[in-house]
Amino acid sequence: MSSHYDLNDYQRRHPFYSDGITKITDPFWNHVCKNCKHTFQTCTAIVPCPKCGSKEADRWLGKIPYSQVIAERGEPIVSE
Ligand SMILES: [Zn+2]
Repeated sequence: MSSHYDLNDYQRRHPFYSDGITKITDPFWNHVCKNCKHTFQTCTAIVPCPKCGSKEADRWLGKIPYSQVIAERGEPIVSE
């Protein structure tokens, strides 16, 4: 057993973040809050707006629209 941290090995065994659709090699999610228009970036798909707490936002994975991502990868796992 080795405690050596190998990022490539980690990526192979854990390719997705906790939302189940975002790969750790993906770009950040870009969000525009529908409530207060705040823009922010996150690692996972569904994150409440840090300003107002709303989960209603327009989202892009890098430049890929959210609707296209879930069409290809399925619905995200949303932790409460
Ligand atoms: Zn907001």
